[in-house]
Amino acid sequence: MVAWQELRRSPVRHAEILCVGNELLFGDVVNTNAAYLSAKLTSMGIKVLHHTVVEDNPQALNIALNDAFSGERRPAVDLVVLTGGLGPTYDDLTKETVANFFGREMTLHQPSLDTIQAYFESTGRTMTPNNQKQAMMPVGAVVLPNHNGTAPGLAVGDEQHTAVLLPGPPFEMKPMFEESVQPLLQHFCNQVLVSHNIHLMGIGESDTEHRLRHLMSASNPSLAPYCGMGEVRLRVTAEAQDIPTAEAMCQTLISQVEASSVGEFIYGMDIPNPETALVERLKALGYTMGTAESCTGGLMGARITAISGASAVFMGGFMTYCNEVKIKTVNVNPDTIAAVTEVSHEVAKQMADGTRASLGCDVGISATGYAGPGGGTPENPVGTVYVGISTPKGTVSHRLYFPRKTRNYIREAVCNRAFLLALEMLRD
Ligand code: ATP
Ligand code: MG
Repeated sequence: MVAWQELRRSPVRHAEILCVGNELLFGDVVNTNAAYLSAKLTSMGIKVLHHTVVEDNPQALNIALNDAFSGERRPAVDLVVLTGGLGPTYDDLTKETVANFFGREMTLHQPSLDTIQAYFESTGRTMTPNNQKQAMMPVGAVVLPNHNGTAPGLAVGDEQHTAVLLPGPPFEMKPMFEESVQPLLQHFCNQVLVSHNIHLMGIGESDTEHRLRHLMSASNPSLAPYCGMGEVRLRVTAEAQDIPTAEAMCQTLISQVEASSVGEFIYGMDIPNPETALVERLKALGYTMGTAESCTGGLMGARITAISGASAVFMGGFMTYCNEVKIKTVNVNPDTIAAVTEVSHEVAKQMADGTRASLGCDVGISATGYAGPGGGTPENPVGTVYVGISTPKGTVSHRLYFPRKTRNYIREAVCNRAFLLALEMLRD
């Protein structure tokens, strides 16, 4: 086996991701490996030109390798990252096919065999002969240890072409990529890519694009808008020889966006989701919060409590699905329901106020509406949801409307908008 220095002579610029497995083609398994690897390689400044999926079949894999490396049918790549088919069973043929593609014999890698044997001993299971197959490696490969399973990964190729082979299961593939592949590839990369996300609320994607068109024509650093559920995200990306240079290029563009007419709509940078921003804001203010949820059925509470450290701000919530519970727990007035129904500004506000009063917290957030597909009224059709927000500054409610959306979409989107609206109310 060889050290990484001997793997190739030229830098890595273009890559293909090649996932092997019938289960991907049947639609049984979603190809999350390709998305993960694309994001990783892109962040290293390696441009991913293709995603390919092939069945567990050596001919199909051989054709795909040839298409990727030869440049005969499309632009050639320097690197192919493969996942799947490294296991012990008869249909796991990736390693043998790649070895054959590069004209390499297979040879036993004793350290891998020792590790696999030790793994079986530690789990009290008997090692079957087909497990030995996992310790067979192409001559001249760099072996990548697997700390989360039995099949080691490997990198093999010639001076200009490298194939990196990783196991299919994501919980084995990801740590192997981060521990072994990323440091290895860094030696062959001469560019880095840095990205940041600017989060906007209260403005649509097309308006954002219209106002920032003058900043969007450049390719490096680049600025691109993405429409999220209830928010717009601007992705700023710069490519350079080192991270500080790329960072500085991003910061210059970010400052231009901040100074533009969309600046006032920015609510944060590099935020994974609206609830994280809300929890951070509440922490900074020393505030606590609670929820009263009808159509979201506890989703707001679930999303907030998914954030580690939420206990500093989240006191609890009421799942007030039927009217009796709205009346009993958060003190909604039955006369109000009789007059304007439970899907109304008035009830949303009473639910938010009642949450604050019952829990003694600073902020109450509520949602009541029609998530569908059935139900709704002519005034409030399916997709209409009222969000109430009660803070020491006062109580407001917002009517949201998501036409032609699924029940799940509406419930998630209501949470996003409710968190963002609360965040806006807690500004300064
Ligand atoms: P094993 O030793 O488990 O057989 P393997 O390297 O041979 O590993 P596969 O048999 O191809 O990998 O896939 C094992 C499992 O890993 C699949 O059943 C699937 O659940 C998951 N998996 C495989 N490829 C992908 C992928 N591209 N994206 C997400 N999950 C995947
Ligand atoms: Mg397998």
